[in-house]
Amino acid sequence: MAKIPSALVQPWPSAGSIGADRRGLLASGEGIYVTDGHGRKLIDGPAGMWCVNVGHRNAELAKVMQEQALELSYNSPWYTTSSPADALADVLADRAPGDLNHVFFTTGGSSAVETALRIMQFANNVRGRPEKKLMVSRQGGYHGSTYLSASLNGRPRDQDWMDSATHLVRKLSSPDPFRRPEGMSIEAFEDGLVAEFAALIEKERAERIGAFVAEPIQASGGVIVPPPGYLKRMRALCAENDILFIADEVVTAFGRLGSVFASRDVFGIEPDMITFAKGVTSGYFPLGGVMVSARLFEELRRSNHPDAMFAHGLTYSSHPVGCAVALKNLELLEGGILDHVNALSGHFQTSLKSLEDLALVGEVRGLGLMACIECVADRVSNNPLTLDLEVGKRIDAHCQDLGLLVRPLINMCVMSPPLTITIEQVDTMVDILRRGISRTMDDLVRGGLW
Ligand code: PMP
Repeated sequence: MAKIPSALVQPWPSAGSIGADRRGLLASGEGIYVTDGHGRKLIDGPAGMWCVNVGHRNAELAKVMQEQALELSYNSPWYTTSSPADALADVLADRAPGDLNHVFFTTGGSSAVETALRIMQFANNVRGRPEKKLMVSRQGGYHGSTYLSASLNGRPRDQDWMDSATHLVRKLSSPDPFRRPEGMSIEAFEDGLVAEFAALIEKERAERIGAFVAEPIQASGGVIVPPPGYLKRMRALCAENDILFIADEVVTAFGRLGSVFASRDVFGIEPDMITFAKGVTSGYFPLGGVMVSARLFEELRRSNHPDAMFAHGLTYSSHPVGCAVALKNLELLEGGILDHVNALSGHFQTSLKSLEDLALVGEVRGLGLMACIECVADRVSNNPLTLDLEVGKRIDAHCQDLGLLVRPLINMCVMSPPLTITIEQVDTMVDILRRGISRTMDDLVRGGLW
């Protein structure tokens, strides 16, 4: 048999490299650091995939995981429950905003979003409104890799070669202030975004729209922090038109913005559902879920179809090991890490912002401990750089030589380190970024590319 370069197929391969592109090996991790296959110690700039919130090699999480696996390693969520699942559900219901008193656990973010969408579809069937199913999402959003969740994705290129449920989805503009029309005020930009949604509701009719799904901050789209009143106004439009507002907090929950859930505490909104994953276990165990409004479930219980079946479940829903890890993780977050994030985020954002003096950098933006450095062709037009320059990857390569792992996103670099990072480590990270970006600029100039 012909030897293939790697048996492992990794996410987002191109057809020409499928099964053949071996990505960098990581051997171990400790705190905010990971060690690669060459023994190089690197700051984990993206905390894995925005998820290793309490840092690597946390002995308390490892201990809980082992203890729970020895106590009860699995139970069927169809027929049974476990103490960790019951306890975690209660704690999350307590921390969630408004009446989000119910939780359905999943295996990660995609399955959380998929579940939320299927709850919307089911609810509207039971409520006798089977035509109220359209889902509204936004350009620049990312919601997952299952069929419905992926159909909501709005990042360029993600859907070019993939089928999706386009007939069920409508997309609005990304609330990206950096890319607003030249000369337009933030207020006018916000008004335009809200008006766009109102016009869509008018055109498609509220009776046909089931849900609006939005990341409070578009994460993989480049850490897009929306204009100040945007989320509240979009939420109000949903309430007026009986459209469920689903906040996709897969990245923003569990400490990244200094709170357990960011919807209410950071943005002042109470969604109808919140999806979460990643930071709920700091990435130590695959777990996600959807918080659901008690009002919605109450309505279903009182419906004309109390026997209608929500035929949806996952073998690993409410996994006892995952739930035990999540409980301990939450204890760690609430035991000081959230306060640390709130104390550090100002310094984190200001020091990253200082990189805007580099000619390649168009904007540095962010909130809490998540930020994005967007590189541009020139600072007058702020035009994006062409894809083939692979600026993000070039910066990442230089930064890795200097001791920092970066998450390159085309012409952007996303920074979302473990939440336990210290002020000195933030300074080291920013210093490496400055040198890495400077070296990249030298390369581009030397190569006559910029
Ligand atoms: N929603 C958001 C906002 C995400 O960032 C992601 C993953 N990056 C997902 C959903 C999908 O989560 P998962 O990869 O765990 O399925």
